[in-house]
This record gives sequence, C-alpha cells and structure tokens, in this order.
Amino acid sequence: MNIVLLGAPGAGKGTQASFIKKNFGLIHISTGDIFRENMRSGTELGLMAKKYMDEGRLVPDSVTCDLVRDRLAQDDVKKRGYMLDGFPRNMFQAQELDKFSKVDACIDIDVAVDCLMDRICGRRVCKNCGESYHISMLDGVTVCPGCGGELYQRDDDNPKTVESRLDTYFSQTAYLERYYGDQGKLRKIACGDLGPDEVYQKIKACLLELE
Ligand code: AMP
Repeated sequence: MNIVLLGAPGAGKGTQASFIKKNFGLIHISTGDIFRENMRSGTELGLMAKKYMDEGRLVPDSVTCDLVRDRLAQDDVKKRGYMLDGFPRNMFQAQELDKFSKVDACIDIDVAVDCLMDRICGRRVCKNCGESYHISMLDGVTVCPGCGGELYQRDDDNPKTVESRLDTYFSQTAYLERYYGDQGKLRKIACGDLGPDEVYQKIKACLLELE
C-alpha cells in the first residue's frame, strides 16, 4: 500500500507516521527529514535546501522530485509500500509522483488553523529517535521520554518562518485535497479536539479498509 499524508505543518503527520509504521510496516519517507539530515551532514543538497527552509519556502521541485523518485525506486519501498510525509506539496509534485508511482490513498489530517502556530512553536524533537513532543507535555524535561536522546527545537519552528510555511501550505498544498478527491483517493480525518491516539484510530480504520 502506498499513501500520501497530507496536512498543514503541525497537523501531526510525523506522529501519525510513526504509529502507522509500527502497525502497518510502511516505509516512512519525509522530505523535510531528508533535507535536515543533509543539512546536518553538510552536503551540497543540505546547503542548498537550508536557504529555502529558513525562509519557509519550498525547495525547487526538480530537486525534490528527483530525490523522491530515487527513494521510491529502492527495494525496501517496493517490498513494503510507503507513506510520504511532506510530499507532494504542490500540483506539479503530485502530477510528477503519479508518473513514477501509484498512490493508493491520500490521508488528509485536518486540524483547525488556530492550533497550528502553538503546536509548531512548542514542538521539541528528539535528535536520536526523531519523536516529537509539545513542551506542555514535557514538564521541563529536556531529554526524550522515549529514548533519553537530546531534544531540540527545529530552526524553522519559529513564529516568522512558521507564518510563511503556513502561507505556503494554504496557497500551494491545500489544493491537493481536490486533486486526490477527484481521483477518489482522499480520506479526510477530522481531528477536532482529538488526541494523537484517537486520530490514529481513525486513520487505522481507513487503512484497514484499503488493505
Ligand atoms: P517539513 O519537515 O515537512 O515541515 O518540511 C520542512 C521544510 O523542508 C519545508 O518548509 C520546505 O522548505 C522543505 N520541504 C519539505 N518537503 C518539501 C517538498 N515536498 N517540496 C519542497 N520543499 C520541501
């Protein structure tokens, strides 16, 4: 099964991806994570991506599409299927993806806009296992409750960049609902006040139907 996870920054795509990975075994591919890994190891790709990420803009499509096409061609993905987190982010990327892979469903994690800024600016991520937490859950603890790794705040999780990331999402990415809706592939998950476990139960029900 191949799925796209759609949702604004802060909607909880990464958190849901780790639940899905544990239970369905799909390979989690986050373009943002790939760019951040490249930034950490100082590659040419990382240096190039950084200037776009710092401004909350999209990295050029040609670069991002090539990267995803290469990753999807690998054996683990072919064998186990994938969930894409953060890709596609505009119509061009969605159309390119359809040229090199078959998407079975788009899970759209729908969270009220006014929650997003607080969620993102309060997010802390584990350097070791990649799990994210909100500071309100941490009670001043600075290490990952799961693995003890060091927690950090992403450079682009600051109010100015977040504003621009949200603009980019609502001007370019949100339209993909329509794209996948027209193909009969959209599964919208209305999150309301639900916590991560309850949201996952809804997603799980969708995925079991698709299997
Ligand atoms: P994310 O971790 O998904 O929030 O992505 C962080 C940043 O990485 C975004 O704000 C973009 O600058 C860049 N990025 C991630 N995925 C893409 C994509 N599919 N296309 C272009 N830029 C991307």
